[in-house]
Amino acid sequence: MNLQWITFTNAVKELYKKEYVPLHEPTFDEKEIEYVTDCIKTGWVSSVGKYVDRLEMELAEYTGVKRAVAVVNGTAALHIALKVAGVKPNDEVFMPSLTFVATANAISYLQAIPHFVDVSIETLGLDPKKLEEHIKVIGEMKNGQLVNKHTGRIIRAVVPMHTFGNPVDLDPLIELCERYNLMLVEDAAESLGSYYKGKHTGGFGRVSALSFNGNKILTTGGGGAILTNDDQLADYAKHLTTTAKIPHRWAFEHDEIAYNYRMPNINAAIGCAQLQKLPTFIEQKRQLTLVYEDLLKNVDGVTLFKEPLHAKGNYWLQTLILEETITRDSVLEFLNENGVMSRPIWTPMDKLSYFQQMPKADLTVTEQLKNSLINIPSTPLEVK
Ligand SMILES: *Cc1c(COP(=O)(O)O)cnc(C)c1O
Repeated sequence: MNLQWITFTNAVKELYKKEYVPLHEPTFDEKEIEYVTDCIKTGWVSSVGKYVDRLEMELAEYTGVKRAVAVVNGTAALHIALKVAGVKPNDEVFMPSLTFVATANAISYLQAIPHFVDVSIETLGLDPKKLEEHIKVIGEMKNGQLVNKHTGRIIRAVVPMHTFGNPVDLDPLIELCERYNLMLVEDAAESLGSYYKGKHTGGFGRVSALSFNGNKILTTGGGGAILTNDDQLADYAKHLTTTAKIPHRWAFEHDEIAYNYRMPNINAAIGCAQLQKLPTFIEQKRQLTLVYEDLLKNVDGVTLFKEPLHAKGNYWLQTLILEETITRDSVLEFLNENGVMSRPIWTPMDKLSYFQQMPKADLTVTEQLKNSLINIPSTPLEVK
């Protein structure tokens, strides 16, 4: 590797004042300790407690979405979001091939079929224009439902994912959903604190999912939440994630097969403390982008990905786009060898052995991006 990259790695290590800079670490202070200690001292560590209720209320308030249901992780949130949105066995669901595997897994848990579509180079997320073209080729309306002409299956929903906190272009997507009677379910796992035209992501879908895994912008250890503006769907989501137990002082009555997906109070306590710091995390991440932009001016063949025009992103993970002249793996090799942890983007879902037979659209941009995107250290830090 050349001198430019050596200078870059040294600058990153200096910035973080570390010999080895991880990709993303959680940031805690006394608040998390105080709230977790409170759980332990009072004995309220498990499936009910004041922090679960409080986190749900504060998430709704922060995102501007009417209701939030806290659950055990983001994958569970997606599973239940899709279920209450009405996805049924044998339905097809449009989703980007370029995403974390949880999106496709959650669809599969419902015996539904992921149908992979391409992403846009401007947002790194689902491309509404290409989706429209694809629907015109493979779709037809039958009894008010979009049907895949080749498989005969109903296409029920579309799940955009806001990659690394960059919102997809939602307006044209919403228009498509209306035209073709598709349910919109947002995978907002990476986009807490990201806005599309001034409105929080996760507030556009009929139902949406957040994740609070350890590497996300806010963590509860493990956790997630379902967001919706529909009280009935929120109540049903809560019911399904708490074993469908009918409330009663002592009796154990349940009215359908359901899940134990509730978030423990001790995790919610961490979340309440983290949420207070979220505006600071986002501010620091946005500043970090400017610092990286400056450092990368001196490195040939790479650009730092910036939020699309319609959006204010949370810059959860900083993203480099490498030009074709640069071999991704040699950059990864060099950065990781020299103390700057970096990672490629996910293997596209259509390349995983068990999803290879799933229906898919033209994936030219996905193909192009899969070898040219890498993430670099993104832990929020105070920069001058
Ligand atoms: C993190 C993430 C999820 C959910 O992950 P969990 O680890 O189950 O909380 C879902 N989709 C995407 C795109 C993610 O990045």
